Amino acid sequence: MSIPPWLESSCQHFYRMALAGRMPHAVMLLGPDGLGKRGLSRWLSRLVLCDSPAELGACGQCRNCQLQDAGTHPDYFVCEPAAGKKQIGVDQIRELISGSSLTGSGHRVFVIVPAEALNPNSANALLKTLEEPTPGTLLILVAQMRSALPATILSRCHVHPLTRPSADQAVDWLSKDLQVSRPEAASALATAEGRIDLAREILQGAEGLDQVAQDLARAAEGQVDLSEMAARWADESLDARLSIMSALLTRSAWMAAGVRSAGETGDGNGSGLERLTAGMDLATLTDCYRQVNRCRSRLKGSLRPELQVEELLLNWQDRCHPALVE
Ligand SMILES: [Zn+2]
Repeated sequence: MSIPPWLESSCQHFYRMALAGRMPHAVMLLGPDGLGKRGLSRWLSRLVLCDSPAELGACGQCRNCQLQDAGTHPDYFVCEPAAGKKQIGVDQIRELISGSSLTGSGHRVFVIVPAEALNPNSANALLKTLEEPTPGTLLILVAQMRSALPATILSRCHVHPLTRPSADQAVDWLSKDLQVSRPEAASALATAEGRIDLAREILQGAEGLDQVAQDLARAAEGQVDLSEMAARWADESLDARLSIMSALLTRSAWMAAGVRSAGETGDGNGSGLERLTAGMDLATLTDCYRQVNRCRSRLKGSLRPELQVEELLLNWQDRCHPALVE
């Protein structure tokens, strides 16, 4: 994946810092979901660990670059919530800190993603590292909501804000990078509600999209054990699955309303879900969409995610049933 044009100035900014030996010990990449923050964190990690970086980033040839490419670099760590968990636990941060205080010769990079997943205990544990950083260690925190981050963490990071590109810029890049037509790229971006990463997924074979559409079709037809499906959703990529469900419902709602976004070709993704939602009216689809958002906000609470998801799927099944009978 090439660096999107809207991240180029960020890359240049960090390159100049690295060249001048002024790389901060902690960088916070802050911006909305889906514009490539994780990709930028990988680019920055490669730059810092590379033996002979160039302006376009790491050289891609040295031993450090090769280790990064193989996913086996011993000084590159990504810290994220464990499977099925919403928070980054204090033990994870302690493990990270003990790793960072080892005496190594070169650099070490730790990526914490998303930084909102730090709870008060893990944030406190991290503060010590932020206050007394080990030389050569770079911490990269990836976040989208400034208000959800502890002020003590924010004040100790070099905060680098990122904004979404215009739809035109995003469509332009998607169509060039994936060699698809502009209308196709625009359609995917609209379906993904402006999330560029999701639009990429839709355009690249859309395994995730098809899977969610199939699950929803099976749930609607009552062919499946909903608690088993809910457990599977909660266990892996829950956020992405809910984003895809909400994107599919938005698309169906547009179709029900007879409205298409600019550039939308209207040929759809051929999912069984579109046939299913064809019999549903706009109010029902809008209600289902709201249920997804409600489920997402409830997931921030302490109730078990699989129960929240099961309730969402049950509601979906109930709402689909009349459409099937008609
Ligand atoms: Zn290199």
